[in-house]
Amino acid sequence: MTPPSQSPQKDMDFSIIADAFEKIEAITSRTQMTLYLVDLIKKTPSEIIDKVVYIIQGKLWPDWMGMPELGIGEKMLIKAIALATNTRESEVEMLYKKLGDLGKAAEYLKKKKETATTGLLAFIPQKSATKLTVLKVYNTLARVALVTGEGSRDIKLKLLAGIITDASPKEAKYIVRFIEGRLRLGIGDATILEALAIVYGGGAHARPVIERAYNLRADLGNIAKIIATQGINAIKNIKPEVGIPVRPMLAERLSSPIEILKKVGGKAIVEYKYDGERAQIHKKKNQVLIYSRRLENITRQYPDVVDYALKHIKSEEAIVEGEIVTYDPETGELRPFQELMHRKRKHDIHIAMKEYPVKVFLFDLLYADEEDYTNKPIIDRRKKLEEIISQSDVFKIAEYIITDDPDEVEKFFLKAIEEGAEGVMVKAMHGQAIYQAGARGWLWIKYKRDYKSEMIDTVDLVVVGAFHGRGRRAGTYGALLMAAYNPEKDVFETVCKVGSGFTDEDLGKLPDMLKPYMIDHKHPRVVAKMVPDTWVTPALVAEIIGAELTLSPIHTCAMDKIRPGVGISIRFPRFIRWRPDKNPEDATTSHELVEMYNKQLKKISSP
Ligand code: ATP
Repeated sequence: MTPPSQSPQKDMDFSIIADAFEKIEAITSRTQMTLYLVDLIKKTPSEIIDKVVYIIQGKLWPDWMGMPELGIGEKMLIKAIALATNTRESEVEMLYKKLGDLGKAAEYLKKKKETATTGLLAFIPQKSATKLTVLKVYNTLARVALVTGEGSRDIKLKLLAGIITDASPKEAKYIVRFIEGRLRLGIGDATILEALAIVYGGGAHARPVIERAYNLRADLGNIAKIIATQGINAIKNIKPEVGIPVRPMLAERLSSPIEILKKVGGKAIVEYKYDGERAQIHKKKNQVLIYSRRLENITRQYPDVVDYALKHIKSEEAIVEGEIVTYDPETGELRPFQELMHRKRKHDIHIAMKEYPVKVFLFDLLYADEEDYTNKPIIDRRKKLEEIISQSDVFKIAEYIITDDPDEVEKFFLKAIEEGAEGVMVKAMHGQAIYQAGARGWLWIKYKRDYKSEMIDTVDLVVVGAFHGRGRRAGTYGALLMAAYNPEKDVFETVCKVGSGFTDEDLGKLPDMLKPYMIDHKHPRVVAKMVPDTWVTPALVAEIIGAELTLSPIHTCAMDKIRPGVGISIRFPRFIRWRPDKNPEDATTSHELVEMYNKQLKKISSP
């Protein structure tokens, strides 16, 4: 099908947009809104359809481009309106207060000015001195956004005042609202897609094709331009393009492994659901871009991930997805999501990079070597992912198992939580399990806990083993295996492996402290599944706090007391201080931990 409006003109009066916005603003029916949009798109020359689509979306360019935003404060806008309408700023402000909308204030003042200049002829519609066109408005606003440096404030003000001067009252209203980021027309992407389908695809039935293209290349302006200039066939076999983010596939949620496995068709890939930031990593030769879950360009925050991608993605061109997680450089343990926030700071990213190093756990591949993998089953995507990645400790495939056994899912889930993950992602692995870009569906199901808990009190635990350190901790110990006391059985049951919270001084002293207690076998009073590098006779007591108490198949504290096959553990444990005043039998008991665990549970209300 050929595009309907092959107009020779390359620009359009801005008034056409303003008229359409005015009509759309006045209605509530989505069908009617779509029809007005259809009308606007039909009138738009194909050369500028991308810009018109961005304007409808209330932006100058897609967010992921990382281009500057308009960023015009209210004060400057008031100044610009005052300049353009020969009014005092205080009057603009007063009007704004009265009308509650700066756009309306601008419209009113423009009307007033027209009346004043045309006197008795006011009832005759007046033309502005210079007719505003879409490109004129767009390019001026783009300049406003892009101008930087000395004197940029004045330039911005001049440019803004200039277009408001040239605008009709109605145009001024919408330009001002656009600048403020308050168009609020309620036009969602779905309505724009529908309108594009009607104009360029011959009807709403063409929407899925356009929608799929948009999901693969999250740039509605760009997609509109392709169909407007080349016809709808041009997007039928569209592939993801390195550099343009793919809209992410999202998961549904259920809270029982039995139900989850049933829903995904029995056998599934069960992966750790890491608690970090989703990253869509685009690589082309020696260039890497990283996009967030919301498709923002977050490359700047992760120079290390850029390096990992260059080093470990073997394909010339690829788009892979994974979770960026921060970890403790001393112990290698994963850290909570909140600590990643330090990567958001604008300056000193290299310092944040050292303090909060990250690992990437990859879970999908969307594009590689010129081939679109989004329409291939997960098994093929994973196979290719493993093929093109040379894995390392910091850039590797997410931990996973393949199973059809709900008990195994549950065990893996508990292990995941204890190791700092949030739960598991269960992924269908049948032939139709494609990557559903931009959609939430039942091919991926998240299994998180439906409660949250918080560890309020510290506990006193006994050292029963130690792990060798690495990095700065080479030559000493990096983490200790800690246990609670079970007075009924007179044994020590392990609770966690703690590696955080030690000062350099604490660490320096560790070898000497542990030496008298080191043994080459597990102490008979210790019940453990986890095997440390060195066993230690229960003697030393330390105070420990953590994020929460969790269930664990690896730790033996209160095993089977809450649920069969699992004990109690501490998530993100941290050493506070030694308790030389306590004997190992004075440590917190397994029973006390059961009570603490039960007390801490709070239902999570939201899904
Ligand atoms: P949603 O992304 O589903 O809207 P949300 O933003 O609240 O919801 P969650 O519900 O916690 O996020 O779960 C989805 C997120 O889990 C993904 O967007 C991704 O960042 C993260 N994640 C971690 N590990 C995995 C994995 N192995 N596979 C897929 N996603 C994972």
